[in-house]
Amino acid sequence: FLEIKNLVKSYGETPVLRNVSLDVDQHEVVCLIGASGSGKSTLLRCINSLEEIDDGEIWLGDNLVSGEGTDVDQLRRDVGIVFQSFNLFPHMTVQENITLAPRKVRGIASSDAKDRAAQLLERVGLADKASSYPDQLSGGQQQRVAIVRALAMDPRVLLLDEITSALDPELVAEVLDIVRGLAHDGLTMLLATHEMSFAREVASTVCFLDAGTILEQGAPGQLFGDPQKERTKAFLHRVT
Ligand code: ATP
Ligand code: MG
Repeated sequence: FLEIKNLVKSYGETPVLRNVSLDVDQHEVVCLIGASGSGKSTLLRCINSLEEIDDGEIWLGDNLVSGEGTDVDQLRRDVGIVFQSFNLFPHMTVQENITLAPRKVRGIASSDAKDRAAQLLERVGLADKASSYPDQLSGGQQQRVAIVRALAMDPRVLLLDEITSALDPELVAEVLDIVRGLAHDGLTMLLATHEMSFAREVASTVCFLDAGTILEQGAPGQLFGDPQKERTKAFLHRVT
């Protein structure tokens, strides 16, 4: 469904992704784990064309979505991304944040976009916050709005980059609950996370990135329970 083939990416002379290949099936949740600097964010950013790739291919269904000729607007309609640092527009209300792209990019009527925003806010327990501004919300609430904003575009795939890393520990659970719900509903997701217990619970496949390669991947029970590579063992030992 989402297929990454021999992806190579350098920043200047520094190789960051070395021949990364990964298949994400529809309805699958793939978790990327690995040390800081291993390339998790870069991989997600390449998939969404936020970074140019040097070599390799990215396919979404039957469409090549990397390299010259990629319809980046269409790609970003199909593939949503949520960042660690929410990135909500501070001067817009929650409702305006959520309805902006559906109105401007997808041409959805304002009233329909608002109805959909209201439904999604209800679902994440923020029905009463539509008129609030981001700085009137907690970090966890802002991150839930950021997820809703991505969902409002009805993406085929959602990329989540360390979406709980900037949150106080007591706010992490409410955001992970949303992701758990989306996984349950069958949304295809690729997420970078430092939350090993969450990855173990929600992932269909876990990939361990090490210095720009997927060193090892497997079902969570296998990767966490019986890692094959020394470097995977050492990493898991450090973080769990
Ligand atoms: P973390 O767990 O800290 O978020 P990560 O696995 O997401 O780490 P990346 O952000 O993908 O890692 O970074 C991979 C490597 O690429 C790092 O060595 C980083 O310094 C480098 N890098 C990332 N972005 C840039 C950039 N814009 N310019 C130059 N180097 C970069
Ligand atoms: Mg990162």
